[in-house]
Amino acid sequence: MYDFDLIVIGAGSGGVRAARMAASQGKLANGERPKVAIIERGALGGTCVNVGCVPKKLMVYAAHVDEEMKDARDYGWQIEHQDFDWPSFIAKKNHEIARLNSIYGNLLANAGVSIIHGEASLIDAHTVSVAGEQYSADKILLAVGGTPVKPNIPGIEHAIVSDDAFYLPSLPKHMVIVGGGYIALEFACIFNALGSEVHVIYRGSQLLRAFDHDLGKGLLHQAQQQGIVFHLTEQVNHIDKLDDSLSVQLESGDCLQTEQVFYATGRAALAQQLGLDKLGVELSEQGDIVVDDQFNTAVESIYALGDAIGTPALTPVALAQAMVFVDQQYGAGRKTMDYHAIPTAIFTAPNIATVGLSEQQALAQGYTIDLYTSDFKHLKHTLTESSFRVYMKLVVDQQTGIVLGVHMIGPDAGEIIQGLALAVKCQMQKSELDSVIGIHPTAAEEFVTMRQVAYSKP
Ligand code: FAD
Repeated sequence: MYDFDLIVIGAGSGGVRAARMAASQGKLANGERPKVAIIERGALGGTCVNVGCVPKKLMVYAAHVDEEMKDARDYGWQIEHQDFDWPSFIAKKNHEIARLNSIYGNLLANAGVSIIHGEASLIDAHTVSVAGEQYSADKILLAVGGTPVKPNIPGIEHAIVSDDAFYLPSLPKHMVIVGGGYIALEFACIFNALGSEVHVIYRGSQLLRAFDHDLGKGLLHQAQQQGIVFHLTEQVNHIDKLDDSLSVQLESGDCLQTEQVFYATGRAALAQQLGLDKLGVELSEQGDIVVDDQFNTAVESIYALGDAIGTPALTPVALAQAMVFVDQQYGAGRKTMDYHAIPTAIFTAPNIATVGLSEQQALAQGYTIDLYTSDFKHLKHTLTESSFRVYMKLVVDQQTGIVLGVHMIGPDAGEIIQGLALAVKCQMQKSELDSVIGIHPTAAEEFVTMRQVAYSKP
């Protein structure tokens, strides 16, 4: 009756996983494998592979070499200063991304998924149009992700967004980054370490405001010591193009001359171009596609997942949602999505990572909490001039002793918190954490040796 059993729009983290798993492991009621197509308007792999997690982490590694070289001298290595060559790094990065694009193509083809290139829009509840061709399916899954948004101020056309930052022809000598969230701060640390003079403009005073407030405060202090200049409670009024630079006029009256203005002030779901309104698919006030816990939109045959539905915008979340979707539609139907204790890392210098409730969230949820904190110099930096410090924090429910949240600033925080996520997910008690033997000498052992309550709240 239809061309396909399932058409997936968007070959990013969620879409590729859903299409691949449905085609290779799913089963229809008659026992056959579903016939699946995926439609992609850009490169296979979506945001994460092309303009997100992967190239960003490669940039973080490039930036980290600066710190390693400085530390190496303090450890007795004689290193002449080496200049960073942006074009050769970007060429290598692009080569690796192209390799990943082709791996994604092979994975899909080997699973039997038909790949259709082009921009998709919906004709009706079972029909999709791509470049004048129409394709029908029993079910349509929208895995269209999001895109950076810029505010409508005069001169905003001169500003770049994260998608552009991965393809700059040269390393800017001076850069203004607007935003106080994780993408703004990761790029601020990357460009600062690679040699740009970086100014961050943020309208609030609390960086990383969705996270435990100690993390934003700690990062602000450490980033300032590395030379990043912050303009807090400040906004951009307009941007003017000069002969060979940009002039950024601030609300306070100050003006910054810069080579590049980079906006990282938010992302929006790519739902507008799909023609969803005429089909009755509901969008939230923020523009996210509204779904129930089966990822079903207001239209019975249309589903959505990933960044486009307003759940935590992280690749592992989109992947987990895809696994649940395939299980519910073409499997045993036993899986549900569990959003409790999703760990996440911010690849600033130093790294930040977190799992569970922040102090502010725990208080808002009515808990009485004991807070354990530790702030120390990493053993590695006792021999170096680095200003980096490690900060750790445990949020513990006073009544039950359960560890509600674990937060860290410091080297390899993501690697460390991934392990501790298990403790929070399993609702481990602080006393059980105390009974764990540390690995010495590591920074991570501090998490199992914090004995003194630093303060309690409320
Ligand atoms: P996407 O991966 O965005 O895929 C959507 C795809 O749909 C895209 O390829 C798009 O081209 C396509 N598409 C959209 N509309 C149409 C259409 N009409 N027709 C055809 N195709 C269409 N997450 C982490 O977990 N860790 C990180 O370190 C991390 N770093 C990030 C850094 C940056 C700079 C950014 C921007 C994001 C980062 N993320 C990170 C978030 C992560 O990339 C996303 O959560 C993830 O990619 C979401 O997957 P998705 O499948 O929902 O959408």
